[in-house]
Amino acid sequence: MKKSLMGIILSIAFLVSCQKNDVNNSLSNQNALSDNPNSLEFLRSLPSYPSFLYPAPFAGTPIREYLNDQSPINIVTCNTVKIGSGGPSVHYGTITLSDVYYDVIEKVLKIKLTPLESTQNYISLGNRNYYLEEFHFHYKSEHSINNKFDSMELHFVNKTNDAAGLQYGLAYGVMISLNSIGNDSYQRLFFGAPAIDNQSHNLFGNETLDLATLLPSDQSKYYSYLGSLTTPNYAEHSDIPNAGPITWILLKNKQKISRTNLDTYRNKYTENNVRTIRPLLCRRVYEKN
Ligand SMILES: [Zn+2]
Repeated sequence: MKKSLMGIILSIAFLVSCQKNDVNNSLSNQNALSDNPNSLEFLRSLPSYPSFLYPAPFAGTPIREYLNDQSPINIVTCNTVKIGSGGPSVHYGTITLSDVYYDVIEKVLKIKLTPLESTQNYISLGNRNYYLEEFHFHYKSEHSINNKFDSMELHFVNKTNDAAGLQYGLAYGVMISLNSIGNDSYQRLFFGAPAIDNQSHNLFGNETLDLATLLPSDQSKYYSYLGSLTTPNYAEHSDIPNAGPITWILLKNKQKISRTNLDTYRNKYTENNVRTIRPLLCRRVYEKN
């Protein structure tokens, strides 16, 4: 009798705790976080409120919470919070180059996916799938690691909408440095892309591109923090915030291109398109090794 009564009490307690911790349980189940308590902290730190699209915030969005949480930042590696497993799962494949253009407002070479391709190329993190909308390039890098910048930075912009239609963003960033070998995909993209004064979107016709060729082969190591988009606000000392909060995943392994690849880009795109470093303030930067 005692045992069965205790069993009932335990069952009720279990059911109640399941309901209360539903989100946390699904997070830990998906990501096997038992190896490192910081991993769970990392996932719990993901935004519970949506990004807003600059310049108009969603009504009721707690702007003050992220007004100062802007990107890019300088990452100081001795101050990062080390996490274990539980990071993003990247599902990127081959896309068509049917919409490649120079965005005159954001000052970036941008490659947009079709709506169908967006549904097929996404990143899973926590309990959300973030769908890839576009990717674009910066010269030089926007982020710095221990005050060191790189030759370029590639940003994959991924978004998701919740049931209420509110939007959450995840930026997947790749630092690009130089080597002597180069990269055929970068060369093809930079060589075939339209110049700044050319408003064409379809110079590649129906050519395709495997996104994996733009990324380092080992994407298991990364930094992550909550920031913002970095475009279109390039003002040196402007306090106008860009859209946020955006979950940033910045890969630790770099992709390599050659001087020739970089020159092909720079011969076309001479404008500076880098936002200056923003203060980290109270934010944590997580690091997965
Ligand atoms: Zn960017």
